[in-house]
Order: sequence, then structure tokens, then C-alpha cells
Amino acid sequence: MRSLRKSTLILTLLAVACIVVLLVAIIINVHGLSMSAERSTNSYLRDVARQSAQVIEERLNGLVNSLRIIGDSMAHRDPQDVVGNEEFLSRKRNTSEFDALAYVSINGRALMVDEDGHFSTSDAILDRYAHSEALAETLSGKTTAGFYGDYIAFMDPIYDGDEISGVMIGVRAKTRLQNMLVNDAFDGRGFTFIIDQYGDILVRPMADDTLAGISGFLNQAVNDFAAEAEAQRNAGEEVNALDITLDTDQGTAMLLDYQALDLFDWAVVTMVAEDFLSHEVGMYMTNIVITLVVLMVIFMVMFIVLIFMQNRYQNRLESVAFADSLTGGMSLIRFQMLAEPRIQKDPEGAYALVTLNVKRFKMINRLGGSHEGDDLLRRIYRVLEENLIDDSELVAHDMADNFILLLRNNDEAELRERLGNIADDIGSISTVLPVHTSQGVYVANDADVDMIAFMDRANMARMSKADDYHSSLVFYDDDFVKQQEERVRLIGMIEQGLENDEFLVYLQPKVSPTEKRVIGAEALVRWKHPEQGMIGPNIFIPLCEQNDLIGELDEYVFEKVCKQIAEWQKKGWDPGVISVNVSGLQLKDIDFIKRYRAIADKYGVDPSMIELELTESVMFSDTEIIEAKNVLDKIHEYGFRCSMDDFGSGYSALGLLQELPIDCLKLDRSFFTGVVDNRRAQIIIEMIIRLAKRLHIHTVAEGIETDKQFAILRNMGCDMIQGFFFSPPLPMDEYADMVFVKGEIYNKKGTSNRGH
Ligand code: C2E
Ligand code: MG
Ligand code: MG
Repeated sequence: MRSLRKSTLILTLLAVACIVVLLVAIIINVHGLSMSAERSTNSYLRDVARQSAQVIEERLNGLVNSLRIIGDSMAHRDPQDVVGNEEFLSRKRNTSEFDALAYVSINGRALMVDEDGHFSTSDAILDRYAHSEALAETLSGKTTAGFYGDYIAFMDPIYDGDEISGVMIGVRAKTRLQNMLVNDAFDGRGFTFIIDQYGDILVRPMADDTLAGISGFLNQAVNDFAAEAEAQRNAGEEVNALDITLDTDQGTAMLLDYQALDLFDWAVVTMVAEDFLSHEVGMYMTNIVITLVVLMVIFMVMFIVLIFMQNRYQNRLESVAFADSLTGGMSLIRFQMLAEPRIQKDPEGAYALVTLNVKRFKMINRLGGSHEGDDLLRRIYRVLEENLIDDSELVAHDMADNFILLLRNNDEAELRERLGNIADDIGSISTVLPVHTSQGVYVANDADVDMIAFMDRANMARMSKADDYHSSLVFYDDDFVKQQEERVRLIGMIEQGLENDEFLVYLQPKVSPTEKRVIGAEALVRWKHPEQGMIGPNIFIPLCEQNDLIGELDEYVFEKVCKQIAEWQKKGWDPGVISVNVSGLQLKDIDFIKRYRAIADKYGVDPSMIELELTESVMFSDTEIIEAKNVLDKIHEYGFRCSMDDFGSGYSALGLLQELPIDCLKLDRSFFTGVVDNRRAQIIIEMIIRLAKRLHIHTVAEGIETDKQFAILRNMGCDMIQGFFFSPPLPMDEYADMVFVKGEIYNKKGTSNRGH
């Protein structure tokens, strides 16, 4: 859990770091971009300035040319034809680009059509222009331009041969010139104007708003600029362009370019804000940055929401995975997570791992209902919890009826006592059946901590006594390991024994107390080991059951019985009904019944002469009633009889008897141990026998050893008696000799002979 939170934190930090890096990268790039934009502004400005200068120069040249043509025509006209000349000028004024036209001859004659189309006298014209420096200059052969209020007058000399005969003057309103300076290449952030050789501004663009703010520095700039140009000119350099960065009053840095014109010693100056391009780039960049920041914020919000949701999901998952839904306690996963580091910290046998299971829990569930079963598990969990000494100990509920404990281990005897007390506490919980538990203990003293392996060991120890009726407690210790090794050795020997035909079938007679004769027998397996002698089934049957050898062994016994019956029948002897034991494990594959029938058929034995014994615990515990019924039906389908063995050894659920179609009920030996002096026991046995009779079920009393026991059971109406009172299990030939040849068991007087 903690590591998950940590990874979330790392993830968040990583995301924030990514965003910071991204932002820094964007800022660096934006900066680089605006720098490069500024650099581009320089060359852009120069291009625009060059073009503007070119356009202006062409226009001015155009004006001068048209003035020259008018002047030439004027020179060839008759000076006396005043009316004709006036008409000529008036026409030219209308068709040319000039607002007024004037002609001044070298001898002082003048004619003019002014801005309003009126004709002026020579005196008025000379008044206006005679004193101008420009006129004097023009008369010396230079084309000039001069300013007069809102007007600009272009003057061009008129030649008569090589001699100057006069001057042609074309007047144009300043505003019309200003139109030429309109420069839309800069989006209003730059402008063009014309200066003279002294740096005085001749024509300004009309966008006076823009100029208003910078007028303060403009003159100075232009003067500086002119000074620079002058210096360059003096140094013999060509003055055509100059970049000057100016700081305006408003703090706007401007770039300035100078383009000298071939005409009038004028120059075109173009100015643009230094950040003209970068400003635009910056605007786009700002948009991009804003978009990115918004996106990042959205991304962050989504990220945070995602982490929040993931954490919530995580918490839910943890509560599902870490809490046990049934008991509300700890789950196995949580237990393992907590237990492992504790054991790791102190692996020298400081902790013991205990697995605990409720014996016959399925039966409790079946009899009491799952509600009762669940309730029992909750109460057990509480008992276990109450038995923990401190927080270093743990308990968890695993699947079904399994529990697991981590206990501090100081001393084995103490641990045994604690676990004994726990078993007692659980045993005192009242429910449909007495509650017994199987416990397995593994004291963790392995430096290599492996929870799964430790649990397996505890479970292995626990399972070794899981079939016992009463509560069991097994330590996985050296003795246990030795026993397990011994078991493995024994299993090998059993397999060998089956191959070598070392197993024998003994028969123990079942006697009818009323008919006073042997009416059947039970086949019981024996192992005649070549070195160890006779070994009883209680030693090797449980081992066979744990290793799937039991099927083989049971079939072996069954076949020997069939063979024997066939032999005896051939001799004309009637063996009655012979019962064979069938392990509960065989029921997992009920096809064995089919095989048994095939074996019986092989020996020509009627299956109704054979009874299959199933123990009470098999029918009542692990299988559901319906499954037990299926098995019994199948047994009957194949013609065999069927009995319930060891009835009374565990939980004798009388009520279930009527549900199971058995032919015979074998009452366990434990019923009869104290029966002679115990009236209550007698009543119970009698009731069972009566109940069985009403259900048409035969009864066999097992382990009858004394005549008193025999007498009681005979009087109760028990159908058959089996026990040492008549005979122990005998080898088949001895059995035949005693039962068929000598007829020793019930002599003619009606008293019994005790067997060997
Ligand atoms: P079980 O089927 O209940 O067999 C009766 C057991 O009681 C037999 O023990 C028998 O020798 C013993 N017995 C009979 N009369 C008396 C008596 O008067 N006093 C005492 N103290 N004991 C008596 P055994 O032969 O040692 O068999 C033990 C158990 O082993 C059997 O109990 C049965 O569950 C199992 N078993 C025996 N043979 C086989 C077999 O072939 N297959 C399977 N699956 N189990 C077998
Ligand atoms: Mg039996
Ligand atoms: Mg029995």
C-alpha cells in the first residue's frame, strides 16, 4: 500500500518535472524566435525602405519629366500670344499632376496658372518665386524643389540651345506628396518620410498620430543620422543606408533606414519599431504559450483527478483484498504481507505459523445451514483474536473454514498449551455438532523466509491428523519430518507388497442370533510382510488413502473375495453375503462400481451376494446427501448391496438414515463398550435398531466380545452379530474349515464358541 502511494508521488513529481521542462523549452524557443524575428526585421526594413525610395524616386522623376516636357513646349511658344499661352498652361495644369504651373523667362517675363486655375501677372509670380534660392539655383542649370507653405514647387531650367532661356515651375500640394509616403508594409508601426541633405524633414507621412508620439526624438534622430551621413560622405563613402536604433520617448526601440535619392539631394528615411516582427511573433507565441498553459492545466487537472480516482479505486481494492468479507477481519493476503517482514526480522524461531481448520465443517453447514456455518466461522475468528497476546501476533480467515495465526513462540510446551486452550475455546462454541479443529504448527526458524512454504508445512502437519474425529494439533518438527519419511518408505513397501501379492484377505463371520448360523462375513485386508510379519489395516489403509493406492488395494480384496465365493459355490457351500470395505476416496470415481461388476461377472458371482461397506463419515461429511444417494443408487443399479459402516463412531445423524437407501447398518463397536451397565445407551441402541427395521434396513453389531453384549443385542432384535465373541477375522481356508466343514460357531445347543 505504502509503495503504491510512493509510486503515485513519484509519478506526480515526474509529471510536474515534465511540465516545467516543457515550459522552459517553450520559453527558450520563444526567446530564440523573437531574436531571430528582430534580426529579420532589419533586413525586412531595408527591403521596404529600398522599395519606398525607388517608388518615390520614380514618381519624382516622372513629375520632373512631365515638367520638362511642358517647359520645352512653353519655350517654343510665341511669347506675344498671351491668351494662347494662358490657355496652353491651363490645359497642361488640368492634364498634368501639378496643381499650379508657372513659366518664368530669363528676361523676367512670367505667366502662371495657380492652384485655383486663375492666371497671375508676372509681378505676382516673381513676388512668389523671385527671391527663392531655388529659382536662382535653377537658373544656374539645376533642377530644384522648394517648399512654400503647403506647396512644393519643382523647378526645371528650360534651354534654348545651350543657353538657359527660362524656368518651368510645377507646384504640387504637399498632401499629394504625402500620399506617396503611405507605407502599409508595417501595419502602422513604421513610416517613411523625406529629408533634405541637412536632415530637415521635407515630407512627413500623414499618419500624424504615430509621428506625434515620436516627434520629440525625430528631429534629433534625423540630425544624428544626417551628421553620420555627412561624415560618411566626407570620408568618401557612399551614403545610402544606415540602421540606427533609437529609443523613443515611449521607450519604443525603432530601426531607421536611409536611402539617398538621386534627386534634389533628398533622402528617404524609413522607420519601424524594432520589435515589429518579434512583436507579432511574440503575439502568436503568447497565444501558443497561453494555449499550452491551458492545456497543461487541463492535463494536470485530469492527471490529479486520475490519481485521485486511482487512489480511491486502490483503497477500495485494498479494502476488498485486505479485509475478509465474512469475519470482517484480516484477509490472508494482508496476513502474508504483515507476517513476512515480522518473521524476517526475527527468523530464529521467534514466531510460529499455525493453520487451523474446522473438522467436518461441511457437515455443520449441511445440518445447520450455511448461516450457522458462517456464524461459527465468525465466532471462531473472534476466539482466535481474543487469544492473541499483543499486536505482534496476527490472525486471518482464509478460504472456507481455514484460519491462520502468527503467534510469538517462546517455548513449545507453552505454545501447545495456548493452542490447546484455543481448541477448547472453539470447542465450547455451541452449534449443531461439537466443534473440533485440526491445527498444524510450523515454528519459523528458517533464515530464508517463504510464507507459502511455511504455510504448506503447517498445513502438511495439520492434514496428517485431519481425519481424526477429535481436535488435533501437529507440529511440523523433526519428528514429523521423520514420520513423513517413514510414510514415504512405507508407501514404497505397500506398492511392492501389492506387486508381490503380500496382501491377504481375512474373513470375519456375521452371525444371525435368531437363526443361530453364520449368514455372511466381512472381508478385511491383512498385510503379511516378509520381514515385519502381519501388519493391520489401520497402519497402511490411511497411507494408501493418501496416495491413491487405496483403489488398487480395494479392488484386489474385492477380486479375491469374488474368486473365493466362486470356489466355495462350486463346492456347494453357501457363503451368504460377504461384505467388502470401500474407501470413501473411491467415490470420486464411481465408475469403480462398473469395474467391480465386471469382476463379479468374470467369476460368475451374483452381485447380490456382495455388500459394499461405506463408512458413516464418507456418507455424512464431504459429500452432499444427494451425491451419497447417487452412489448408493449406482451400487444398487449394478446389483450390489450396500451398508453403512461404523455408524455411531462419529456424528450419527439418525435423521439422514431415511434419506439414504442402504441395505444394512453396521453399528460401531464404540456403542457397545459400556452398554451392559448403561441403560441409556441400551435405549439409544434399541431405538436405532427399531428405526432401521422400520426403514427395512438390516443391522449388524460390530465388535461384540462378550456374551452379555450378545444377549442384549439379540434381545433388541439386532439382525447380525460380528465380533470376537464368535470369531476374529480368519484366513479364508480357516474360515471355510470352521464355518462350512466343522460348523463350529453355533453348536447344536445354541451356545456360541468364542473364536481365536
Ligand atoms: P471395519 O470395517 O469397521 O472393520 C471392523 C474392524 O473391527 C476390523 O479391524 C476387525 O478386526 C475389528 N473387530 C471385529 N470384531 C472385533 C471385536 O470384537 N473387538 C475388537 N476390538 N475389534 C474387532 P481391522 O481388520 O483391523 O480393520 C480396521 C479397519 O480397516 C476396518 O474397520 C476398515 O475400515 C478398514 N479396512 C479393513 N480392510 C479394508 C479393505 O479391504 N479396504 C478398506 N478400504 N478398508 C479396510
Ligand atoms: Mg467394515
Ligand atoms: Mg466397522
